[in-house]
Amino acid sequence: MTVASEYVLICVAWPYANGPLHLGHVAGCYLPPDIQARFERAKGNKVLMVSGSDEHGTPITVSAEIEGVEPQDIVDRYHEINKQALLDLGCSWEPNVDPRGIEYGGSLFNRTSDSRHKTIVQQNFTKLLDAGLFERRTTQQYYEVSSNNKGRFLPDRYVEGICPTCDFDSARGDQCDECGATYEAIELKSPRSKMNPDAEIEIRDTDHFFYRLDLFQKVLEQHASDRSSVWKSNVKAMTKQWLDMGLRPRAVTRDLTWGIQLPLEGDEWKGKCVYVWFEAVQGYTTCAQIWAESIADKSGHPDGKDSWMNWWMIDENGKTPRHLYFLGKDNIPFHTVIWPALIIGINHANAGKNSTEPVELPTAGELALATNVPAMEYLMLAGGQFSKSRKHAVWLPSFLQRFDPDTLRYYLSINMPENHDTDFNWPDFVEKINSELIAAYGNFVHRILTLGARLPKTKNGPFVDLEMENITAKHSEKLNQLHLEITTSLERHRYKEALRYVMNAAQYGNQIIQAATPWKYLGEKFDDSDAAKESLASLSFGWRICRYLAIVTQPFLPFSAQKLWQSLGQPGQVAEADWFSANDWQVDMTWNDKNPEPLFKRLELDEILKQEQSFVSKESTDSNPVTNVKGGKKGGKKMNKKVEGIQYLDFNDFMKVELKVGKITSVEEHPNADKLYVVNLDDGGQGRVICAGIKQYYTAEQLTGMQVVFVSNLQPRPLRGVTSEGMMLAADDGNGQVKLITVDGEISTGSTVR
Ligand SMILES: [Zn+2]
Repeated sequence: MTVASEYVLICVAWPYANGPLHLGHVAGCYLPPDIQARFERAKGNKVLMVSGSDEHGTPITVSAEIEGVEPQDIVDRYHEINKQALLDLGCSWEPNVDPRGIEYGGSLFNRTSDSRHKTIVQQNFTKLLDAGLFERRTTQQYYEVSSNNKGRFLPDRYVEGICPTCDFDSARGDQCDECGATYEAIELKSPRSKMNPDAEIEIRDTDHFFYRLDLFQKVLEQHASDRSSVWKSNVKAMTKQWLDMGLRPRAVTRDLTWGIQLPLEGDEWKGKCVYVWFEAVQGYTTCAQIWAESIADKSGHPDGKDSWMNWWMIDENGKTPRHLYFLGKDNIPFHTVIWPALIIGINHANAGKNSTEPVELPTAGELALATNVPAMEYLMLAGGQFSKSRKHAVWLPSFLQRFDPDTLRYYLSINMPENHDTDFNWPDFVEKINSELIAAYGNFVHRILTLGARLPKTKNGPFVDLEMENITAKHSEKLNQLHLEITTSLERHRYKEALRYVMNAAQYGNQIIQAATPWKYLGEKFDDSDAAKESLASLSFGWRICRYLAIVTQPFLPFSAQKLWQSLGQPGQVAEADWFSANDWQVDMTWNDKNPEPLFKRLELDEILKQEQSFVSKESTDSNPVTNVKGGKKGGKKMNKKVEGIQYLDFNDFMKVELKVGKITSVEEHPNADKLYVVNLDDGGQGRVICAGIKQYYTAEQLTGMQVVFVSNLQPRPLRGVTSEGMMLAADDGNGQVKLITVDGEISTGSTVR
């Protein structure tokens, strides 16, 4: 099944080292590429994943001045925090060498302050300048005058004044946060220095280089049209918008010292550096080069320091490595317009051409352009955008201190903002973990493992001798189909859809076991009836489904997948298992004699909201704390109730509840609710309809004919369009096991329960 392996470069947007990552970043930029990288590796491809901290620019210098520290202190701090948080989330930034061998690639989470990155960026700067792709212009900029020789140019973020549009008096140099207007800094009224409001400021001339983006208009239109069948509609739309406006030269240099210095002689270039937009995107190539020089070469890659070219260059046969860029929607034009323009420009300069010759799409031996840019929309927090500056966020490091990383990976994958913005809220998080991840997947696996542990032990585990070919054939067909669907969805970057197919496979496993009822045959007496054999053969097939699930959940849920892999007695790392062996139904069975532990712990919403509330009050010292989390408010109300121990129910109140015995006559799917059944009940009278949330636990066949206990005098109420006339009683162990309450032997329907 495995075809010749392919070179895949996974480019992950560089997080800005000015604060911790929040869940919005994770959903949009950092989780999808890790899922993709894990999937590509499992398929046998050679994957290099690159990213790192973006450490230059004015937001960092502003933070440093406010804190009274050096910019280097800020970036050192957040580089460490963010890298550790990504590792804790299970993102495969370590080890740097693929465990299958260095020729398979690896990953590097670097930083733009790396001296080698700076050198390569400066070399590219010189190349582009020499090729005539820069244009020199004189511009005007505010300057803070100072008597003691400490005068400086003020970047837009360092200037405040009165908005020329709405008269708001704390408008920024280039835009007003009050009315949203954007303008040139020199249009601002009563401008002042943000850091030294009393300092004298004036406008001075300053020379800068501009990249000739205008020369790339045609070639970029061609690139966008070549990719139109693979790019998502949001990517196409935003790229078109930029191209339709017409590309103009864009400033490459600025008056700032915190950045990469210009490789130029002469006093007029002192105190200037390149813009972050120009250098941070080049990190995708510099990081690959640095990985090759500092890691691949030393680990014995046959191509040594040139090994990065396997992932970057179109080969002599015209074969292009597959380049996938992962980023949030605000970053799309940088990756579909600006970065390709730089790549084409560097190729142009490398070929010894100048600005009088037309720029062209890359050919053999040149740097390749993006294959796809599966950019995400936003994950919102209670309907509002996550924001570092407004402290409206759930931070990744603190989340991972409190929760199993796989729960976050599950929730963000099933709720991924692929085609539209999605919302994070705590009640939904808890609901999806408890009723999907645990109820469908965790419980199925745990059931197979615990039932297996009750079987007689043999050399290769309890399941081996129970298998029956016809049972395997019967159950495997649907799982083969689902495997194909999971694979196709992941190839198309439809992560949500892929994970839904994975969960369908787990649910199918549940159905098989529920129908086979193997627990009936696990008693002390040996039962050699055909029914018993078939039931235990289905249980045995459950081991194979678990192995299948370990492999297909691995890209999404690497920690629990490995735990499951070990419980099954499989050797090594599930991350190194062949993707296509998931549905190899002949694999030798193994077993681990250790007592199986549940994969996940159930979450308690009230506890979480309480914790969240105390977190928020601890963290927020400003007047506008982060309390507007959906569900947070709800929890706040609940918490105001004093805990008074057991709340006793008045006996007369209890006597008002009328309980009766009914018999289920038929069961239908609820037309508007995935988890509900519409149950028709013989209640000893005219009959009634009850909507019941037990679909995950019982099949319609199992329910039909069952005698149950129900509340007969409950006010009828509509549930998603179907009126429910009562409630059936069930026991819930809190771990996802739910059993209906029934009577001990036959009794006529309508009997009162007392
Ligand atoms: Zn304004």
